[in-house]
Amino acid sequence: MDTTLNRRNFLKGALASGAVLMAGGALAGCASEGGNSGDTVVGFAPVEFAEETDVLIIGTGIAGLSAAMDPVEAGYKVTLADKRDTYGGESFMACGVMNVSGSEMQKRAGIEGSVEEKWEKYAPVLEKKGETDDMEYKKNVYLGQTEWANRVEADYGAQFQPLEAYKDTGAPTSMLLPLNGIGDMTSVLTPLINGLQDKGATVELNRKATNFIVDSEGTVIGVRFVDSKTDKIIDVKAKKIVLATGGFSCNQVMVSEYMPQQAELCPLTVYSMGEGHELGRSIGGVYAHMDMDSNRMSDLAQVTVWGYFGRNVQVSPMGRRFIKEDQSHDTPDACAELGLGFWWTIFDNQLIEGSQAWNVEMNMKAHEDRLVGPCNTLDELAQAMDVPAENLKATFAEYDGYVDAGEDAAFGKKLFLEKLEAPYYALKHFPFRYKTHGGLKIATDSQLVDNQGNPIANVYCCGSTTPDTGSDLSPNAGSGLITGKAVVASLQSEQA
Ligand SMILES: Cc1cc2nc3c(=O)[nH]c(=O)nc-3n(C[C@H](O)[C@H](O)[C@H](O)COP(=O)(O)OP(=O)(O)OC[C@H]3O[C@@H](n4cnc5c(N)ncnc54)[C@H](O)[C@@H]3O)c2cc1C
Repeated sequence: MDTTLNRRNFLKGALASGAVLMAGGALAGCASEGGNSGDTVVGFAPVEFAEETDVLIIGTGIAGLSAAMDPVEAGYKVTLADKRDTYGGESFMACGVMNVSGSEMQKRAGIEGSVEEKWEKYAPVLEKKGETDDMEYKKNVYLGQTEWANRVEADYGAQFQPLEAYKDTGAPTSMLLPLNGIGDMTSVLTPLINGLQDKGATVELNRKATNFIVDSEGTVIGVRFVDSKTDKIIDVKAKKIVLATGGFSCNQVMVSEYMPQQAELCPLTVYSMGEGHELGRSIGGVYAHMDMDSNRMSDLAQVTVWGYFGRNVQVSPMGRRFIKEDQSHDTPDACAELGLGFWWTIFDNQLIEGSQAWNVEMNMKAHEDRLVGPCNTLDELAQAMDVPAENLKATFAEYDGYVDAGEDAAFGKKLFLEKLEAPYYALKHFPFRYKTHGGLKIATDSQLVDNQGNPIANVYCCGSTTPDTGSDLSPNAGSGLITGKAVVASLQSEQA
């Protein structure tokens, strides 16, 4: 009996069984003629290529857009596709905090330190954490995010908030923000997508990738999309395909399986469904770090990061401080872990008039139902928040004592350890889940690999679809950028 199961036979068997074709399956197509291979599976139309491109990028978040930069600039035909009717993904609605070192913006503001020097300091910390499998990839991402910031500003007209707006307030200068500060990612991503289109890229919205298309040898040659509005099938032939579909935090089944500790929290959006993860697996890709826990987020996401840029005091529903305020995600993490249910951010005019005034006003207007204030006394504030007044007054008395002493003996707050002044305001938040780390294993050049570590031809991954980026804006941008470089290198070597 012939026990050899070559890739073609494997595919035929799998196609005949129909099993691999359920979610994110692989369809066999004919590379040369673009017709169907003769095999049919109930419910799956034969492959008919409607379009052809050099580089097909699935997902228009920060990772996908950044992956397009080098291929477009090198003159390749680039198509970006997104299942939604708008571009930008969750990157577009992010708070906009981008951790970058040694960028031109920082140099102009007199902030010292090159990206290489910063990496030398950061690398041992990363290694100690043991969260990365590939330090070389991680280094490339780290250097890539600085190159990305410089290039999107200089070559695409992306706009960042001048660091002068916050660099002398005590706020971290390792954080870049979009032009109007927190919550204004359009200032960065809109010029980027417009610039990509000006340079020749095509952006197709309402296109949901559902299957890889492989030739009779099992090599990936395209992607099947379904038009989210019309249900029409569109098969696109591509030389290189980049999966940039984001994380899986909105997929209840995947979260329950891999991160059960977050299964009972609501997701902030409905878009990060892990579709790219499943697509990658359907052609032999493997998952890594799927159970790596990620921090939680407030349902008022942008308010979560105010503590880096201005003074506030955060209290439990009983009016007691439970965390230092000069961080972001530790608060929703602690709220969930302590079972508080919700918490309050109390602030005053210093935040309202400070470097993030645009965002503070926007959130106060958008969340009037969660806002209390202005309140002229702590008694008035406690009543409006429905917390015991004696607790709130004791909390502030203790906090003010730490301010006078110059040290937060309870929680170690360092930034904006300052007294709040009436009138007081407060916003109520709830802890939500918002991102995941785990994803498809890749090689150092961002190419998808199988369970033996062998590259899967023509398929690349970046952003929150892969485990080693950190699932934040700037590393996802860096990972996209280096993926685009790898795609160009591969196309050029094939042409040579
Ligand atoms: C509210 C919020 C605030 C955040 N704030 C910050 C912050 O301040 N700083 C920070 O560093 N990080 C922040 N994050 C995390 C950060 O936004 C994400 O890590 C990052 O945006 C992910 O980038 P991405 O390009 O990988 O994915 P996304 O930006 O999510 O893009 C993925 C795209 O792929 C598309 N897609 C998915 N499946 C398919 C499919 N089958 N076919 C076609 N298209 C598909 C989606 O529609 C989406 O447009 C925040 C996240 C949220 C939700």
